[in-house]
Amino acid sequence: MKFVGDVALGDFPPYFCRLNRALHPIMTDNQQAFQQYLAHTSEAPLGMEITYAEGIYLYGPEGKKYVDMISGICVSNVGHGAPEIVTAIREQAERYLHTMVYGESIMSPQVQYAQLLHKVLGEGFDQVYFLNGGTEANEAALKVAKKYTGRGKIISCHNSYHGSTHGSLSVSGNPDAKIGYGPLLPDVHHIAFNDFEGLREIDEQTACIIIEAIQGAGGVVLPKEGYLQAVKARCEEVGALMILDEIQTGFGRTGELFAHQTFGVKPDILVLGKALGGGLPMGAFVTRKEVLQVIHKNPILGHINTFGGGPVACAAGKALLEKIICDELLAQIPQKEALLFQELQHPLVKEIRGKGLMFAILFETPEIGYKLREVVLKKGFLTIGFLSEPNGLRICPPLTITEEEIKMACQLLKDAMDEVGAVL
Ligand code: PLP
Repeated sequence: MKFVGDVALGDFPPYFCRLNRALHPIMTDNQQAFQQYLAHTSEAPLGMEITYAEGIYLYGPEGKKYVDMISGICVSNVGHGAPEIVTAIREQAERYLHTMVYGESIMSPQVQYAQLLHKVLGEGFDQVYFLNGGTEANEAALKVAKKYTGRGKIISCHNSYHGSTHGSLSVSGNPDAKIGYGPLLPDVHHIAFNDFEGLREIDEQTACIIIEAIQGAGGVVLPKEGYLQAVKARCEEVGALMILDEIQTGFGRTGELFAHQTFGVKPDILVLGKALGGGLPMGAFVTRKEVLQVIHKNPILGHINTFGGGPVACAAGKALLEKIICDELLAQIPQKEALLFQELQHPLVKEIRGKGLMFAILFETPEIGYKLREVVLKKGFLTIGFLSEPNGLRICPPLTITEEEIKMACQLLKDAMDEVGAVL
């Protein structure tokens, strides 16, 4: 077995790379309890312990500092511990945490956030329905599209990811993730992302297509010029709805507040999550008032939930969105995007894909990414792979990262790539 420092470069598990014992020589009580009492999502979870986070940095129990180059997977878009968000949470928590199930009573943070979302999204995004997370928001959007159109056929894309609950898993485009969980939703048809011809599959029986603005878990696959517009045009032609899943691409990630603005398309239903709650759990879909009316009657209460749009999460999310706007973070993205693209270049890197601050670096083999992830983590740089792109690593730092910090972080990565490249 080869080593880089004391990191073994031997076998690697299929999706998630085990943190080498060398990185955790002594298990803390929390690490032991994590092993023993928590359900894990893989046989070899990352197992990294963080005790404190601030700005773009995460700190381990012994004070080890990591630069967060994934933002909790596109959640912490304005970094960690932003005072505006912490204050908004504290102030709302002191008022009330919960008064009533979603949609029945007026909670000031919820209506204010809905109003702000409408303001930044514009016409056609009249009303927001708040839920608890991304997958649940997609489930609700699919239901609404079926009821509104009176149709049952659903189109989605190969290589997509829309969540892990039954409906979202059904429309997700990774067949391996479905093994053992069938039967799933019927009448779901997958087409190739970016294939204009494939759009013919959207027909008069189709309720909706659900599609990501950029395929995130698929390895940051960007839409071809005009593709998303062609999706919308085909939907209009046959009376189907376009559901755009912007759970990962929202809140400044691609350089505009939302990626559909970057790509110049207006979906019928926009689905939000991740950064939406400012670090607290929340999902939502936003659409026209007439579309949403289908859940009011026949039967009434067509989609209900207890905690969606919780007032503390709404206060936090609104503070995050206001911070992106007030600090003019979007104006800085083009320079940061160009710098990141330049600084990520290395002989080991086969391809770089990205938009705004959402990047994939791709290697010749999955093994290189797995090795690199361990080596670079030891240097204090946190990255992770993709669900459906085994050859890539994810780079999506908080939008607040400075140009100096981009250079510093990329140097850590390039040092690690030198080391990994030397032993290949
Ligand atoms: N849709 C996309 C594009 C995602 O990236 C994710 C999560 O990674 C989801 C849906 C599911 O969101 P959640 O994990 O909040 O259920």
